[in-house]
Amino acid sequence: MKIKCARCGCEDPQYFGKDHGICYCRRCISFGRMPVGEPVRKRKIRKPHYIKEACLKFELTPYQKQISAKALQALKNHQDVFIYAAAGAGKTEITLESISWFLKQGKRVCFAISRRQVVLEIASRLQEYYPDLKVTPVCEGYPENYADRFDSDLIVCTMHQLYQYAGCFDLLIMDEVDAFPYAGSEMLETIAEAACRDVTMMLSATPDRKSMEKIEAGQMILCELFRRPHGHQLCVPEIRKCSSALQVIRILKCCRDFLSVKKQVLVFVPRREDVVWMKKVLSLAGKTEGIHSATADKDRIMQKFREKETDILVTTTLLERGITVGSVQVLIYQADHIVFTCASLVQIFGRVGRTFSDPEGTGICFCQKPSQAIRECINIIETMNRSLSDSQKGRTE
Ligand SMILES: [Zn+2]
Repeated sequence: MKIKCARCGCEDPQYFGKDHGICYCRRCISFGRMPVGEPVRKRKIRKPHYIKEACLKFELTPYQKQISAKALQALKNHQDVFIYAAAGAGKTEITLESISWFLKQGKRVCFAISRRQVVLEIASRLQEYYPDLKVTPVCEGYPENYADRFDSDLIVCTMHQLYQYAGCFDLLIMDEVDAFPYAGSEMLETIAEAACRDVTMMLSATPDRKSMEKIEAGQMILCELFRRPHGHQLCVPEIRKCSSALQVIRILKCCRDFLSVKKQVLVFVPRREDVVWMKKVLSLAGKTEGIHSATADKDRIMQKFREKETDILVTTTLLERGITVGSVQVLIYQADHIVFTCASLVQIFGRVGRTFSDPEGTGICFCQKPSQAIRECINIIETMNRSLSDSQKGRTE
């Protein structure tokens, strides 16, 4: 007899353990022990108390409105949607019209994201947009009141936490589907499928092959959102080929040049230990801080950079997503290192030119030889830019 875990869909015999004659799944054991043969307990979230439309302090651009309407139309027809958006194009705002519509119908909505930090950020943004709703972040340490997990109007959680919500949501929005840990995790995919009882809306700047196949097969509706609200093109990174030692010298020089015109610089390095020495070197150019996943006071360092007290911030791929600082220029040391995947590079250069006041900027890949990932990244960004100028032409003609 073939055994299968009802929660994570695991069928691989090596994952099953036995204890007191009861067989259980070890693949999803971090969510609590799940005996084989036991059905997943379906949970219920109370009906949302929806009163008012989302209140935005700004209006969506005509282009955002168009994409938002297209997405909602597909969802109403019970079709899944994939929002392929450039970094900084305002994809969270695109989801609001759909969230409002579902909540108004008394349906349950969840916004799931890979990283905990972003869960908290999105939850507070959604709470601002919907001041009358109870928006609850669900992730490590949250919510403070345990019962809020099921007694809320809108749930914002990490992908992992979806295991608690089997059969709960009519609309499941999944952000950063191309990022760790969701990307490539069959277990999380099965758990997400189980949490959704009607439609999903996926958001990403770099769709994976599986999603593209689903789109081509007509199982998901593609909505492209490449135009940033300020309408400027995305930053296409430059490539500078040289030895690692020379890269350091050139990065130092670039930093000096940027600082002389009052631009802050984000310098990405492949390894945590590189953060330490690179920070020392770049201190010769200006006030420099370093941050990586094991840094103790991340929030303070980020705050100082946002307030422009720091000139240069050295970091690993930790900051590839979710940071918006005006007028920031981006340099990568050893951009041909394997940690810089195509998806990660697209995100990294997406940090450049995100504000209305300074919509353009520079991004440079320092490397010995451009990797496949670097070439693909440039390709993707150029395709997005091309489709922008095509659609602009279309409007003026
Ligand atoms: Zn399992």
